Amino acid sequence: MNGLTATYKHFLKLTPKALVNWFAQAARDLPWRRTRDPYAIWVSEIMLQQTQVSTVIPYWERWMKRLPDVRALAAAEEQEVLKLWEGLGYYRRARHLHLAAKKVVAENNGRLPLAHEQWLEIPGIGRYTAGAICSIAFQHPVPILDGNVVRILCRLLLIRGDTKDKAVLKRLWDAAQDLVSHAPDGQHGRFNESMMELGATLCIPRQPLCLLCPVSELCAARKAGVVNQVPQIAARATITPRYFAALLLRDGDRTFLRQRAANEVNGGFWELPNIEAPSPEEAAQLLAKKSATRLSEKPIKIIQHRITRYSMTLSVYQPDSPTRKIITRIEKIWPDARWLSTEDLKHLPVAKAHLRAIG
Ligand code: SF4
Repeated sequence: MNGLTATYKHFLKLTPKALVNWFAQAARDLPWRRTRDPYAIWVSEIMLQQTQVSTVIPYWERWMKRLPDVRALAAAEEQEVLKLWEGLGYYRRARHLHLAAKKVVAENNGRLPLAHEQWLEIPGIGRYTAGAICSIAFQHPVPILDGNVVRILCRLLLIRGDTKDKAVLKRLWDAAQDLVSHAPDGQHGRFNESMMELGATLCIPRQPLCLLCPVSELCAARKAGVVNQVPQIAARATITPRYFAALLLRDGDRTFLRQRAANEVNGGFWELPNIEAPSPEEAAQLLAKKSATRLSEKPIKIIQHRITRYSMTLSVYQPDSPTRKIITRIEKIWPDARWLSTEDLKHLPVAKAHLRAIG
């Protein structure tokens, strides 16, 4: 504590306790908060990256029912893992989780690590996730820092710099460490969870609900009247439009789908045969050319889909007259495609936009 200002010492003494007490009565009842199982917490933390709590709940519950521990996950087929993740997006997360489970079973006989540094060696786990697992499952005094915590700390301590800047980030990690170290004994996880909760419910990006905040008396941004200006909001990334034309072939309850190669984005997922081009019209022309088929004049469906900074338009076409001869020709053009029944699709992962196109 030497070298710290009296104000900062006062802040460290009061803030963790106030937040832990508030969390005890204000926390939302989320299913992963009813367990201290590090595997269950690990799965929830990975699912919650870039994804809203309400979306994650049914996915987490289904996953935990089907793959309740690290051994079950390691033994699962990749197609099943991706199917359980279907619709959550950012599929690399599921693949990393699967690989990581295999590594833990192969190298550590299925025992999950205890130490923060060992968690950092697991594929897909960064400093935030390791901190969340070790603090929540084992009550280790290790910090977490994600977008929510950055926002809260910038406001509490009135940090105005660019939060992507290395020095600012170091200051934020240091503050997160100072705070979690001052949490009451055995409450380090609870403290980190209280920060997540505060960021999700009260200290929200715009118009934070300061009147309800348990640490409003300690908040420097509030005292200065600048809560809406802190932290600095980075300029939004520009959205790039992308256009795809897809071919929908049906035969009774079967649909013609290809599987993305392992080295493609979202590898392993099934999708309608499709082509990308700079405009919807060019995509349709290229698709007709590649399939050597006259397509329906207009798309039978248009699916709009947003992934990170891309806004995707998927226009779905059918052949004008799908004779047996034309279908045989198309089958040869996409040799990696298969006819899949509705029953098959219950078990295989299908890219979200294409699932909507089929449905
Ligand atoms: S007082 Fe307002 S700005 Fe400060 S931490 Fe609480 S909710 Fe956030």
